Amino acid sequence: MEMTNIPEIFGSMVFDDRQMRKRLSEEVYTALKTTIEQNVRLDDKLAEAVAVEMKKWALENGATHFTHWFQPLTGVTAEKHDSFIEPTGDGGVMMEFSGKELIKGESDASSFPSGGLRATFEARGYTAWDPTSYAFIKDHTLCIPTAFCSYSGEALDKKTPLLRSMQAINRQAMRVLRLFGNEDVKHVNTSVGPEQEYFLIDQKLYNERRDLVYTGRTLFGTRPPKGQEMDDHYYGVIKPRVQEFMKDLNQELWKLGILAKTEHNEVAPAQHELAPIYTTTNIAADHNQLTMEIMQKVAKRHGMVCLLHEKPFAGVNGSGKHNNWSISTDTGINLFSPGETPHENAQFLLFLCAVIQAVDDYQDLLRLSVATAGNDHRLGANEAPPAIISVFLGEELTGILNAIRDDKPYEGVEKVTMKLGVHALPRFSRDTTDRNRTSPFAFTGNKFEFRSLGSSNSIACANIMLNAAVAESLMQYADELESVAGTDRFEEALHNLIKRVITEHQRILFDGNGYGEEWIREATEVRGLSNLPTTADAMPKLLDPKNQEMLIRQKVFNAAEIRSRCEIMLENYVKVVNIEGLTMVDMVRKDYLPAIEEYLYTLARAVDSMKSVSANVKCRYEISTIEKLTDLTDNILTSVEALEAVLEKLRGIDNIFRSSEMVRDELLPCMSKLRSFVDAAEMLTSAKYWPYPSYGKLLFSVQ
Ligand code: ADP
Ligand code: MG
Repeated sequence: MEMTNIPEIFGSMVFDDRQMRKRLSEEVYTALKTTIEQNVRLDDKLAEAVAVEMKKWALENGATHFTHWFQPLTGVTAEKHDSFIEPTGDGGVMMEFSGKELIKGESDASSFPSGGLRATFEARGYTAWDPTSYAFIKDHTLCIPTAFCSYSGEALDKKTPLLRSMQAINRQAMRVLRLFGNEDVKHVNTSVGPEQEYFLIDQKLYNERRDLVYTGRTLFGTRPPKGQEMDDHYYGVIKPRVQEFMKDLNQELWKLGILAKTEHNEVAPAQHELAPIYTTTNIAADHNQLTMEIMQKVAKRHGMVCLLHEKPFAGVNGSGKHNNWSISTDTGINLFSPGETPHENAQFLLFLCAVIQAVDDYQDLLRLSVATAGNDHRLGANEAPPAIISVFLGEELTGILNAIRDDKPYEGVEKVTMKLGVHALPRFSRDTTDRNRTSPFAFTGNKFEFRSLGSSNSIACANIMLNAAVAESLMQYADELESVAGTDRFEEALHNLIKRVITEHQRILFDGNGYGEEWIREATEVRGLSNLPTTADAMPKLLDPKNQEMLIRQKVFNAAEIRSRCEIMLENYVKVVNIEGLTMVDMVRKDYLPAIEEYLYTLARAVDSMKSVSANVKCRYEISTIEKLTDLTDNILTSVEALEAVLEKLRGIDNIFRSSEMVRDELLPCMSKLRSFVDAAEMLTSAKYWPYPSYGKLLFSVQ
């Protein structure tokens, strides 16, 4: 049996700190570390020295090319490979890689979505090295994680605003920490551990489904007799073929320094989850993009396809991504971990308040940060958190906050009156904080878990909004408290502030069942929370003056970037659903209708020949099926014609807000009507005639 020495392979394809220390001169190493830790610009001489060693390392490890690896607004990563070769003038080549090539690359921005930024600014874009995320080798290519900007500095990617949001929260959190007399902390970082869900299905069956191939999800299909109702898949024994895949996947991820940690079966048949150990947010975002890419690659090797779509199958759970998020100091303190002393507790409560206020004030930003055509199928479908954003704190913490709010004794485990700065808080065990799986935003002991992300979402989007919004509340607190810091008025001012925040943002706190109509009614009618069920509803909120002002104030986006992002995301929504609509037309006209027709013909012939044997035969099965199926083909034809008309109408609209509304109000309803008739026909048609593999086959294809 082959054995893997994990510590040996871990990070073997990464130019990480171990390689840097080993290969760089002490002077260069120290300078690079300073660059990484303090986020200062890398000077050219230093870059040259790093490039030389990086190239040597890459060549030793089989690389022939290098690329600036970046995350444009398409949602996937982009790379353009350059080989290291440089002609020597005598017919030969040498392998070259300069400092300039390391830190900056030119890229034609015109083929990437820029939402009007291109027209306003410049056609060319450039990529700039993010030295906080290590370079790595993938497919014989040295990949340099980079940010992607226009020449006038507008962000054209997801990494740039993510880095800016991390700086924003650092700036404001540092001000707040100083209020509490923390002088030793130099830097504050946000960390994320994303739990990634996915489906695995057999490659051969996948190839037979044009909807999966074109859109990543099934657009038709009746539920199989067995779905997920037995709950026998969740945490169940992992099938050997999947086990082999996971083993291979882990190795690939470990080589890239990705801390793949847990793996298990999920709720739906064929659904699985992978979670890494959490790390700094921009690195976690890079790693998650890589993980998604490698999952798909490794699945292929095993004759399977990894589906990352949020809703590949109707009727069984879709896939999400839980964004476990916390803030910690460079001295190793998790700011969401209640401390040992009353003093530390007051600080903890203030950071907690900052999150509560941020989620309440910017519910719509959080909602739209996860909005895609795919994820719209999940949110609010009683399997994922609802489209309404609320915060779950758990019984114990809620009790403490209520006690502060009402100036009442806290009747918790410790039975004490909560006075800030006097009493210690109990430590929260996971058991008391992790019960509610329906909450979109839950406190889970020493971190928050934002559960609304779709499985294919880049985690950058959610974390940009989260970091920016929390930076904003921290900024307000620092503004308010700085004048009394260090005086004997500080404690009271702090107490009053915390009390006020808890009182004012009470409506966002909800520990009940997030599924079901009752909550939707209460949230929207009684509490006035926003309910944005679709991307078409959510995305335009990015342009609300309140939201724009905050994002600009925190230096996360400028106005042009905000506008362009809103348009790109809406364009994406319209394009995705449009392709789905076209695929449906294609499948119905070319395969479903002809297949039903063939079956009808067989039945009709059967009736004819049976009646010729005896005039008395009833042919009840044949005739009733013919009647029902011809009714259905009639309805299918009418619906497909209606769908074609909507698609045609959509083509004529050149306003992205109007077309996204049309997608929501006309296209999607048309599609689901068509689907319902085709699915009904599937139940009546001989499987032999049905042109596509059934749900049952797809979901139970991997044994
Ligand atoms: P689950 O939610 O599946 O029960 P855990 O809560 O143990 O599992 O971990 C889920 C994810 O949260 C993992 O990626 C883990 O590394 C991450 N995580 C744990 N602690 C923190 C933290 N302080 N900050 C951010 N992520 C964390
Ligand atoms: Mg979790």
